[in-house]
Amino acid sequence: MTTVPAAEAPPILHAEALRDAIAARRDDLIALTQDLLRIPTLNPPGDCYLEICEYLAKRLKASGFEVQLVRAHGAKGDTDRYPRWNVVARKEGPRGGDCVHFNSHTDVVEVGRGWTKDPFGGELEDGRIYGRGACDMKGGLAASIIAVEAFIAAVPDWGGAIEISGTVDEESGGYAGVAYLAEKGFYQNVQHVIIPEPLNPDRICLGHRGVWWAEIETFGEIAHGSMPFLGDCAVRHMGAVINEMEETLFPALFAKTTDMPVVPEGARHSTMNINSLHGGLPEPGKDETGFPSACVPDSARMIIDRRYLIEEDPEEVKAEIRAVLERVKSKRETFTYALREMWGVPPTMTDKAAPVVQSVHRAIEATYGRAPDYVVSPGTYDQKHIARIGKLHNCIAYGPGILDLAHKPDEWVGVEDMLRSAEVMALALAELLAGPAA
Ligand SMILES: [Zn+2]
Repeated sequence: MTTVPAAEAPPILHAEALRDAIAARRDDLIALTQDLLRIPTLNPPGDCYLEICEYLAKRLKASGFEVQLVRAHGAKGDTDRYPRWNVVARKEGPRGGDCVHFNSHTDVVEVGRGWTKDPFGGELEDGRIYGRGACDMKGGLAASIIAVEAFIAAVPDWGGAIEISGTVDEESGGYAGVAYLAEKGFYQNVQHVIIPEPLNPDRICLGHRGVWWAEIETFGEIAHGSMPFLGDCAVRHMGAVINEMEETLFPALFAKTTDMPVVPEGARHSTMNINSLHGGLPEPGKDETGFPSACVPDSARMIIDRRYLIEEDPEEVKAEIRAVLERVKSKRETFTYALREMWGVPPTMTDKAAPVVQSVHRAIEATYGRAPDYVVSPGTYDQKHIARIGKLHNCIAYGPGILDLAHKPDEWVGVEDMLRSAEVMALALAELLAGPAA
């Protein structure tokens, strides 16, 4: 990859006017972030999705956008009680050109314990705005809206189109959100995508590792617990599976490393988590006080969460697990198993030479006086749907907020970080849409 050094590159057009326009919107940015935080869009179950769409629709219509509310009818999670509403706003420039799309998820995760602030109060204290979703990612959504509004006001003769979408369910897979929009063709006329997830405002996130979930079941034969030799214990078979994983699989995964700049660094190896393990009797209900009965378990189930690297072939990832199970089978006479695939997403990583990466790179350099760090996320986010269904590979995550604060108690976003990242987004728009007419 070659990057034009800042010294040789021409300055970004309208940079001063854009900086002034962002600075003038400071109070507006704070109020907008607070308003968004005060709409408790909890997922699960999917609360207030229509309310936040209507709020955004009103705001963006006032800024000259054409707005569509899109319900993900028939998608996972969509019910009449909890309808999955998304909002897509589009504004055409005075002349033709590319379309830049900002996508933010509007859902937030559960509050959890340990808060000292009102999780839906939007309290501003010492330059920080507190609330569930402040950093992940209503701060990013607010910053992108301010960036776009400032750009439209400061650069009258821009070319192309700008879209802003607010989508649901990112925290639970994004199937009724970005995936639904991608399936309905919403990304067909889009050239550049920025997802303002909290990645720290001087870093560009190029993509994510792959994921594959599967359930392994081992089988046995039920018998009285006092005479286990008359049955066949599925849990012991599963124990043998875990043993084989410890001895051969985990060391092999750790030995695989990637050139992807994944953060944190521990995720630059292949990893696998055992998400759950269950064998024998079901867990007793809260009101049950009796002893469990004595039975040899005839089934044990394990859910594995395998995260893999761009250098790995998804078929090999699956074959590796089958090989573990076959090795156990060769050592245990009565061992039988089932392997069920649950879901998977391939790794994705946008090329550093892609136009959206280069524009944001230059904008970060102009704002922070240094080149950005490139990162890749250990887990997936909505970029997966844009790459996989939308077939668009000119997409990054870039936004304010500190990644480590996501999903934590007393989550906050810094006003300065939002302002500076809004500046970066506005300058990137100038790079992409304010150039001379073609
Ligand atoms: Zn997020």
